[in-house]
Amino acid sequence: MSATVIDGRAFAAKVREQVGEHVTRLKEAHGITPGLAVVLVGEDPASEVYVRSKGKMTLEVGMKSVEHKLSAQTGQQELLDLIDALNNDPEIHGILVQLPLPDHLDEDLVINSIAPAKDVDGFHVSNVGLLGTGQKSMVPCTPLGCLMMLRAHHGSLSGMNAVVIGRSNIVGKPMAQLLLGDSCTVTIAHSRTKDLPEVVRRADIVVAAVGRPEMVPGDWIKPGATVIDVGINRIERDGKKKLVGDADYDSCAAVAGAITPVPGGVGPMTIACLLANTVTACCRANGLEEPEGLTA
Ligand code: NDP
Repeated sequence: MSATVIDGRAFAAKVREQVGEHVTRLKEAHGITPGLAVVLVGEDPASEVYVRSKGKMTLEVGMKSVEHKLSAQTGQQELLDLIDALNNDPEIHGILVQLPLPDHLDEDLVINSIAPAKDVDGFHVSNVGLLGTGQKSMVPCTPLGCLMMLRAHHGSLSGMNAVVIGRSNIVGKPMAQLLLGDSCTVTIAHSRTKDLPEVVRRADIVVAAVGRPEMVPGDWIKPGATVIDVGINRIERDGKKKLVGDADYDSCAAVAGAITPVPGGVGPMTIACLLANTVTACCRANGLEEPEGLTA
């Protein structure tokens, strides 16, 4: 069997187009421009690339983009004051603090100081609790992107066996909640899981979110299963730098029914979902109808 490749770039382009159409409607019908503020503390080069790309795409869909670049020495209170100002700014509907933060800053405190309604990353404890109890929340972007691709590929996910490898707060746990919300039977695997290959072989859906290059080989995959590869790992092979996922692409693609590539799978969907969340937050803030299909 040769797997269908789930094209995350094409899917993300469609999501951005849908977001752009909704932004136009918000402007024309209500005179409202959704605004996203991104806060970057320090000079981490990878974070700077992400922030630039987020800003560019925010503007491309017609939204307002605000970037706050703070020095690595920024104090806790200064950062909290900035978040407070953004929480109270009516032109800002989404706030994202780029992680990781420098060690002297308390990440939990900072994230939980964002107004939950503007928490477009979905990391605030209120949003985590709302998602966990099946209530309307802001949903973390990467798992939301995975869910959108799974729904588009399968239609209903009801009754499917899903294995999520990884239990982080930003990917693994919310991914598992979303799959449960779509009536999958969900197993969360992690570094202490016994006989991981056997656990994964039971899965109709495998979401790999580990951060270990090509850890999941094809012989762990049930024939016809769908593999969603969240991993982004930078490796060097044959003297060349390369990006690979957590799944061994060639051997998994030979067995799976569908697979997301790295790059070009989950990655592009993450930013598209950030834009989707910002439009959703803007609609909710203004008591307007939310765009369909852009949230969980
Ligand atoms: P974390 O490091 O926070 O979590 C990794 C998880 O993998 C942990 O739960 C850990 O288990 C588990 N794990 C580690 N080793 C093993 C193993 N040998 N067997 C089974 N489980 C294992 O990573 P993130 O969730 O933040 O990210 C995961 C990957 O996804 C990374 O490659 C990251 O770059 C990528 N990523 C991609 C995004 C995108 O947009 N495409 C966005 C976010 C992340 P334990 O808890 O027991 O330690």
